Amino acid sequence: DKVVLKRALISVSDKTGLIDAARALADAGVELVSTGGTKAAIAAAGIPVKDVAELTGFPEMMDGRVKTLHPKVHGGLLGVRDAPAHAAAMGEHGIGAIDLVYVNLYPFEPTVAAGGDYETCVENIDIGGPAMIRSGAKNHGYVAVCTDPADMAEVLAALKAEGGTSLALRKTLAARAYARTAAYDAAISAWFAGQLGQSAPPRKAIAGRLIQTLRYGENSHQSAAFYGFEHRRTGVATARQLQGKELSYNNIADTDAAFELAAEFDGPDAACVIVKHANPCGVATGPNLLEAHRRALECDPVSAFGGIVAVNRRLDRAAAEAIAEVFTEVVIAPGADDDAVAVFAAKKNLRLLVTEGLPNALDAGETFRSVAGGFLVQSRDTARLTAADLKIVTKRAPTPQEVEDMLFAFTIAKHVKSNAIVFARGGQTLGVGAGQMNRKDSARIAAMRAADFGLDLKGSACASEAFFPFADGLIQAAEAGATGVIQPGGSIRDEEVIAAADAAGIAMAFTGVRVFRH
Ligand code: 5GP
Repeated sequence: DKVVLKRALISVSDKTGLIDAARALADAGVELVSTGGTKAAIAAAGIPVKDVAELTGFPEMMDGRVKTLHPKVHGGLLGVRDAPAHAAAMGEHGIGAIDLVYVNLYPFEPTVAAGGDYETCVENIDIGGPAMIRSGAKNHGYVAVCTDPADMAEVLAALKAEGGTSLALRKTLAARAYARTAAYDAAISAWFAGQLGQSAPPRKAIAGRLIQTLRYGENSHQSAAFYGFEHRRTGVATARQLQGKELSYNNIADTDAAFELAAEFDGPDAACVIVKHANPCGVATGPNLLEAHRRALECDPVSAFGGIVAVNRRLDRAAAEAIAEVFTEVVIAPGADDDAVAVFAAKKNLRLLVTEGLPNALDAGETFRSVAGGFLVQSRDTARLTAADLKIVTKRAPTPQEVEDMLFAFTIAKHVKSNAIVFARGGQTLGVGAGQMNRKDSARIAAMRAADFGLDLKGSACASEAFFPFADGLIQAAEAGATGVIQPGGSIRDEEVIAAADAAGIAMAFTGVRVFRH
């Protein structure tokens, strides 16, 4: 099923990396055919290239609207070479086979994003490009389709290693190619809807590029795949896997939860997050990752078994050794030292992921969630509080240490499934209560966990991601030992809750901001 590359058609608007790719192909003896601007760029680099006009016998016309829409091009892309009738037609009409098409499209999305006027946006709707991508992808039995430099790199690697493209590679490229044209058309349709004053589906929801097909979804009877946006924020979708088993659906979801929380810690302290089933079961800061991991693990060593570990700085060897002592599914870090990577070599199954730096927790962006027959979209929760944002509502004001603990606990609570209660002290979670249907139970579970693992809650801060609807949850937190409470406030029973806090000598801060996570 291998196809040796003899002829490639290159037509790219974004010419980044073009010359390198063209040179590599030409060096491998591949004949290059290109459209006007692309041809000029390749020829200027001294690389032999043919103008597509030579092939078609027609010049580019109508402001470039018609360049490659011709049987000499599409016959070369669509012809089934092993089908006698196709081969005969190709012979009869002098249509030469094209084995590789490398196309990126007129920059429609960037033009819209830059506020281009109506005419400019319309002119940036590429017609011939998507047609070539779709033709080549349909005929993946013979044709490899690349739509970005990463695709080209894969083809060039295959060319080097195997002397051509395999059917498996061409199929993968075809799947990506149709995802790209689908996203492109979705962007166009969304823009038109916007022009008509209609609300459009958020473009990014469908503008995914296939990263990986997954063996199965959340459960083995569900199918699944992993898609990335064209412009990806740093995170699990940009991570490089250095070792370990293939990532599963649940791994990806949990790793995302862990790394997004780790990203909240962009200050000078090292931070470590351990996640299980999308909830943090231990989070701590420290002077180094080893200490941060030790303290995170202390919070709930039982849940940490089989968990995901995310850190906020380059992974070092000492921390890697400590992490490797606990059964861990995934480790994600914004970089790793060579000797840290070497530590995991013996743990064949452990998946080690590294990114180019820590995600920016304050990045704009969207989150999605499916509902029957549709999906919900919202902007990312970028709420971040400082001491100045807190309104102290009790008679007793918190100490500076209590304020720090409150803010730490509230940051964690933002990443815990509602109802969320988090006890913390000195940059360490002491008890996490997640995902309960009432706040009292979350408080009870958080306190119970702390007791189970011998952690004293005396003098701790207790965070609630949404207001206490009754005083009972707060009373429970006070009885458990918390002396500081942080919560949004805004309940009709706030007075009752404040009175209970005063009665217990608690210092309580209202954030005015709720951080539900359902
Ligand atoms: P170049 O810079 O080489 O002149 O143009 C490259 C761009 O033209 C690519 O983005 C490609 O998708 C697009 N393109 C190629 N053929 C056609 C065509 O027949 N019609 C239109 N509208 N665009 C084309």
